[in-house]
Amino acid sequence: MKNTQSLKGGCICGQVKYQITDKPLFTQACHCKDCKVITGSSYVVNTSVLENTLMVEGEISSTKLTAGSGAASRAFFCTKCGTYVYTDYDSAVGRLTVRTKTLEDPDKFPPQAHIFVKDKDPWLNLSEDVNCFEEMYDAKTTWPEESLKRYSEYLKNRPK
Ligand SMILES: [Zn+2]
Ligand SMILES: [Zn+2]
Repeated sequence: MKNTQSLKGGCICGQVKYQITDKPLFTQACHCKDCKVITGSSYVVNTSVLENTLMVEGEISSTKLTAGSGAASRAFFCTKCGTYVYTDYDSAVGRLTVRTKTLEDPDKFPPQAHIFVKDKDPWLNLSEDVNCFEEMYDAKTTWPEESLKRYSEYLKNRPK
């Protein structure tokens, strides 16, 4: 444990449990049409972590998804209750994306950015001070310096 206490989370039935053993990199809300379908709701909140900091226990299954944009990902679910726990996006090399609200204490991780706000539900009002992007942002100018540094250092030494 380097930067924070180990974070815990899991699915709704308790079969799948996980720990995140280092500070997450970034948390964002996505309002795109795919995330609406996947969640059955207005948006998803996702927390990006280094791939070697997510320890999952319990029986999990996965399925490959292709987004409207053509981007591929693998979604991981509890085999018993179907809670969607995390995603491995092809585009996010060296990272895994945890469903923030599966954390035991998700309120510690409010979205640092809202993306695909062009698809946001019209009745959903975001406060003026949140960081909104019509589509995607450039991580270099949006992520905290510390997260960018930790991620690039990890990629340099990433086991093949
Ligand atoms: Zn479950
Ligand atoms: Zn989305």
